[in-house]
Amino acid sequence: MLTPTSIEMPATSLFVARAEPYRVSDLNRFMDEIKASPLVKIGAIGKTVQGRDLEIIRVGRDVAPNRVFIRARAHPWEPVGNWVVEGLVRRLLKGDADAEKFLARYSVCILPMANKDGVERGGTRFNSQGWDLNRKWDKPADPQFAPENAALERWLDAEIKAGRRPSFAMDLHNDANGMLHISRPDIPDIEKYLERMAHFEQCLRDHTWFTVGSTKPTFHNPGTLGEGWFQRFGIDAVILEFNCNYIESIKEPALGRHWMTFGHGLVAAFDERAARVRGQPHDAGDVLGGQQPRRVDRQARAAGRGAAGAGHPGHDLRGRAVDHGRWPRADRARSVCR
Ligand SMILES: [Zn+2]
Repeated sequence: MLTPTSIEMPATSLFVARAEPYRVSDLNRFMDEIKASPLVKIGAIGKTVQGRDLEIIRVGRDVAPNRVFIRARAHPWEPVGNWVVEGLVRRLLKGDADAEKFLARYSVCILPMANKDGVERGGTRFNSQGWDLNRKWDKPADPQFAPENAALERWLDAEIKAGRRPSFAMDLHNDANGMLHISRPDIPDIEKYLERMAHFEQCLRDHTWFTVGSTKPTFHNPGTLGEGWFQRFGIDAVILEFNCNYIESIKEPALGRHWMTFGHGLVAAFDERAARVRGQPHDAGDVLGGQQPRRVDRQARAAGRGAAGAGHPGHDLRGRAVDHGRWPRADRARSVCR
């Protein structure tokens, strides 16, 4: 519970932030700190509307059998993703036996500040051309209005051509709820995707303080990175929202240090996910078994095969009630401190 307090103002201006800020200068400081590591490669993939560099941070080794992609800060007023990314990278670079185990399983590529112009000017949602960078992923990016997305798409195409297609992609956001946003595009084999997402949700519960659950079986959000990358590139993709007000599971206000801790745990969640999908066709990025994505009739799918229940809080893929809260709070608290 927050209590009233007094504030000393040595200057004439006071800036109030809803969520703990993470500025461009914070990202630059962090990249300077990690760039000398032999496990880190940082390179620009293009520029923003206003000419700022868009960096990709690659952590790990090219020979790792699994690849994860993370994007943060598509929406400038959602700084949580940057804190999570910093926690994740710091855990991967810790140099202990667990870090070695993780890096043998997967590598991570991160676009840490997708909307750098917006962050710099203190914007909310859009880039400098008024474009929402988490929309229109159902078609090729427009290089004039969304050069940030066009650069990312060029990079992704090159990675796929080089045989380095990510098998999993996650877009980090924050709101007042905090949920795993599992979208349901009209494609065949959606149930297999939903099974993998349900497993990932359990990985989050097992290794982080995540308890809030995922979107309802009717949730469909066309044009987001989560849906577009799955539909167009055959990559398991998802959006993770963080509640930037309060973290119910640990009864704490949402702060940077908690999001960093979440990033630590996310490393193990990715590891468990990668272990499960190993050897499955989509481990090589081939989610659709070599087929091109194909739309199916949503109504027919809903009436017929029924993917209802997947990821819905308290239910399994078939809508059966399950107990997700199998960890007592004390154990959950321990799990995030590794
Ligand atoms: Zn957002």
